[in-house]
Amino acid sequence: MRCPSMLTTFLLALVLVGAVAITLIAWAALFGLGLRWAKARQWTWRRLAVISVVVNVVAIAYQIGVVWVFAHRPQQELAVVLLATVGYLLLNIGIISWSFRISALRAIQAWLPTLLSGLPVVLFSFLVVRPLLFEPYVIPTNSMMPTLLGWHGRDVCATCGGTCYFIPPPEDVRYSVPLPMICDQFHVTEQQPQSLKTYLPTRIVAARFLRPRRWDLLVFESPADPQQLYVKRVVGLPGETVVIENGKVTIDGEVVEVPEHLQGLQYVTEVPWGPDMMPISAGSAETPAKLAADEYFMLGDFSVAAFDSRLWEQGAEGHPPYAVPRSHVRGVVSHIVWPPERFRVLR
Ligand SMILES: [Zn+2]
Repeated sequence: MRCPSMLTTFLLALVLVGAVAITLIAWAALFGLGLRWAKARQWTWRRLAVISVVVNVVAIAYQIGVVWVFAHRPQQELAVVLLATVGYLLLNIGIISWSFRISALRAIQAWLPTLLSGLPVVLFSFLVVRPLLFEPYVIPTNSMMPTLLGWHGRDVCATCGGTCYFIPPPEDVRYSVPLPMICDQFHVTEQQPQSLKTYLPTRIVAARFLRPRRWDLLVFESPADPQQLYVKRVVGLPGETVVIENGKVTIDGEVVEVPEHLQGLQYVTEVPWGPDMMPISAGSAETPAKLAADEYFMLGDFSVAAFDSRLWEQGAEGHPPYAVPRSHVRGVVSHIVWPPERFRVLR
């Protein structure tokens, strides 16, 4: 297995620290304006700096606390937002009023300009971070189970007893039917789910500056509809010919073994649970996928149900349906960031 690069993680940490610093400096500057506007008397630059840090640390710690406590109860989303917002406001006003000995009304006046403190970091994000460095994503579909999970269900794998995952059936399907499932060891089973409870999707960060290597996860625009973003594993690189045989990938006639952390992963040439429920149209022995100098072949880890290069019917202009042109690639997934127990550095 390749060693994930420390550089990517270092850069990501640097971006996060930079974003916090920019926000805090903007907050303090706007708060200084607010204090003048509210005609608060007892203030110095030093006090301003200390209180800015205290207010933000306390209020943000409170918000993180609220989100942490309610993280596993998504149905109470509105209540959580209200609790987090009202508590945040009260903490801000309370600390300002108390530390500058001013009335609550004056404290609100001094605090009001800080509402604009998010602007510089939004600009930083949209002008620098997203186009050049990193973009965050929420996983939209379940083609990449078990590595990346969209909204999903969980069960116990009949083969190994570990956790396995399934695509939640549509809500109007009340009856229970066996569903395809895949566990963290890549065991594929067909089981009747014990519960239809759904769980939150995985969140990832993609690096804009990395060059795709085989087995990387890429974020890319769908060849047929560039508005639609997909995340899948890159299996075929520019110039190669891809054929899936006996669960394995062959490139230009040679079998390529999956890296150690993907041991057990099997690719199939029929997609019984896919959207078409038909034999694949690209990447089989009869229909090898030939890639041009700027094209990639993408597969999902949940091979029996994934809608990927094997099945696509419409391609980008000037490219075959199975190919993702380089211009459609948005980034290489560098980190799985949420939920915390699935945190991983990939590149
Ligand atoms: Zn298993």
